[in-house]
Amino acid sequence: MWVYPPELTPAEGERLTEVIKDWAVAHGLTVRPPPAVIAAEADPAGILATAVPVTLFPSPFPEVCFNQAVAVQKAYNELYAAISRDEEFLAQIVKDIGDSDDFITELWKVHLRVKEEGYVQHKSLGLFRSDYMVHQDASGSTPQVKQVEFNTIASSFGGLSSQTSLLHNYLAATEYPLLGNPIQRGLLRLPPSGSIVGLAAGLRQAFVEYGPTTTGHGKCVVFLTQGGERNVFDQRHLEYELQRSEDPVVPVFRLPYAETLQHTRIADGAGRQLLYTPPHLPGRTFEVAVIYMRSGYGPSDYPDPSAWEARYHLERSAAIKCPTVLTQIAGTKKVQQVLATPETPSNPSVLGRFLRPSTTTSDDSTSASVISELAKTFTNIYPLDATTEAGLEARRIALDPARSQSYVLKPQREGGGNNVYRGAIPGFLRSTPEAHWPSHILMELITPPPVRNTILRNGALEHGGVICELGIYGTCLWDQRPGGAILRNEEAGYLLRTKGDKSEEGGVAAGFGCMDSVALA
Ligand code: ADP
Ligand code: MG
Ligand code: MG
Repeated sequence: MWVYPPELTPAEGERLTEVIKDWAVAHGLTVRPPPAVIAAEADPAGILATAVPVTLFPSPFPEVCFNQAVAVQKAYNELYAAISRDEEFLAQIVKDIGDSDDFITELWKVHLRVKEEGYVQHKSLGLFRSDYMVHQDASGSTPQVKQVEFNTIASSFGGLSSQTSLLHNYLAATEYPLLGNPIQRGLLRLPPSGSIVGLAAGLRQAFVEYGPTTTGHGKCVVFLTQGGERNVFDQRHLEYELQRSEDPVVPVFRLPYAETLQHTRIADGAGRQLLYTPPHLPGRTFEVAVIYMRSGYGPSDYPDPSAWEARYHLERSAAIKCPTVLTQIAGTKKVQQVLATPETPSNPSVLGRFLRPSTTTSDDSTSASVISELAKTFTNIYPLDATTEAGLEARRIALDPARSQSYVLKPQREGGGNNVYRGAIPGFLRSTPEAHWPSHILMELITPPPVRNTILRNGALEHGGVICELGIYGTCLWDQRPGGAILRNEEAGYLLRTKGDKSEEGGVAAGFGCMDSVALA
């Protein structure tokens, strides 16, 4: 019987460790080391990089599930573009989340302020990632993907995921055929991940669609980053890909979010062009065509009121934002819950509001089938309000030590480490003022069928059961005004992240998960 991934001898494990750790550094499958690991004295200039945690083999992933996730990505892009255009819907979302979530409230205020003076930029860029796990019900029917979440801001790992699929392809060509339990070359079906090329193409199109500059300065793209970012190479891969193009030449600058007000200003006049003077080029100014946010997605990026002023400053500018405030709010878990809440007579399908035939250029029946394909990726998600039947049921589940075991409670946050799992939910809720409960959603846990693999983390091998999470990237560029055109809508490669099956969270950057790629099964 063919066992995959194969059993390894200790010597084979050491051999793969050697090969991977060098390949990873040689190809930028790397992060900056955590400061606690590398003492400041050992790396005072911050020149060191370290291999990211990665599986020794690409994990088997059902082909039907992979294809299902890829197939719905363009519909998801279009859905989220439509949601971000629907101010009335988002206003209700913000209201439902309530005043207890200061972060979402402040974001909304930024939108209201800009709306008052009028937006000058109507084009909006989304570099999205829709995340899934495999679900197989007890009947043993065909497995399906169920959506974990949809990311509309700072969707990361597009750089490293392309490199990880290249690593596994390299190993499949060189090392796996030589193992004691060999995997013959060509036996694995490894879909390449085009995430670097795809995401960079989205940024490049926004740069072009921005149009000619009107200030006399050259155009540029700004990557808005976090100070001390360790996942910098992931971002650099996108930057290098953007810079490879000669027509147009795309100058790219990295700007720490905290330095936004110091190094950028809005041009005089009605156009509100965003001007950037790189600190290393005093006297030289660029007109910012695209702001790509790899920061600004959580409260820690807004330590004081000036950080909110910076967000307002960017939002009111003519730069194309990736994302706008409205698109960021469209990516909240609350929106995902509202979309997934089942249709009832008093609650007509929310999806129909966004995917009408008039917006899809398709006829009635195709838009109905798109809606049904999207809905198949939903799992049960409940609100936690005290007025709807769904909210009351969620409160009963969440406060019940037994029933809460199959759920995860999520606040409106991004970046990992914010959720409350299983048995911890009742106690967490009891210690949270009831007025704050509606700012959370309660989601059924997806429990994928068991997969085994070996993770190489910090030079050591961890064998065992793993849980895989597939992300599909999408790029979308649209006119934000009601009825506005969609200028780009593309699927843009995939990410596979894997964690030990004892861990609740799977964040690679947060230290729980690792990079992986897909072996179609
Ligand atoms: P974030 O925006 O912080 O990444 P997620 O919703 O992706 O929040 O949750 C973080 C992690 O928690 C996921 O990567 C996944 O490992 C786990 N998780 C979240 N929701 C579910 C779910 N419904 N079933 C199983 N695991 C989940
Ligand atoms: Mg996530
Ligand atoms: Mg997220």
